[in-house]
Amino acid sequence: MARTEPEPLTDPAPRCARCSDVIGVYEPLVQVDGDMARRTSRAAEPTIAAKAGPFYHLDCYESDLARLDTQARARDDSG
Ligand SMILES: [Zn+2]
Repeated sequence: MARTEPEPLTDPAPRCARCSDVIGVYEPLVQVDGDMARRTSRAAEPTIAAKAGPFYHLDCYESDLARLDTQARARDDSG
């Protein structure tokens, strides 16, 4: 069909706010918008990069949560 389809300019690939790596199209990602964290992917939402971030790899987000949780607990214990 569209033989003269122009190449997309730079693909606005979102980067993970934790590891700074590009989040792949089929990688599960987490979009944090204010207090809300939403699990999605670029395959499911091609325009996700244009939305508010930050974005995380699902793994990065979960390990970050685990770390924050551990810190909070440690702080609680020492207090
Ligand atoms: Zn990451």
